[in-house]
Amino acid sequence: MPLSDGAVALLADQVAELVRSWLPDADRVDVRITPQPGDDPYRWPGRSVWSVDFEVAARGEASVRLSGDLEPVEALERLVDGLGQLSESPGYWGRPVPPCRPGHAHPARVDRDGPAVVIRCPSTGETVARMVAAELG
Ligand SMILES: [Zn+2]
Repeated sequence: MPLSDGAVALLADQVAELVRSWLPDADRVDVRITPQPGDDPYRWPGRSVWSVDFEVAARGEASVRLSGDLEPVEALERLVDGLGQLSESPGYWGRPVPPCRPGHAHPARVDRDGPAVVIRCPSTGETVARMVAAELG
């Protein structure tokens, strides 16, 4: 099922919640979803594209582009993976995002495992978190 505006909003909320759990000082996470022109309206008529931007407590930003042909779990993986941009923002400079196990200075790796997005330690392969894409009921 192709992604809809509502499905993208739901996934973006799910990911904003994740950011709040990772960054205790992220008292506010603003999500902005902007429809974009498709890459090639002639080849892909009616294809939807969105830019999903997260702004975290005026400290960091991440921006991810999603297209309507993605499965919800693929879209979730891109959003979570894109949050790595936060560690390059001045307010979070050098902080590993996504955070790995306690005491690990490196960021965790974002992977797919069937219907789930799995966040793992890149050195031990341990699962740090596992999430399933929220879908419109
Ligand atoms: Zn680790």
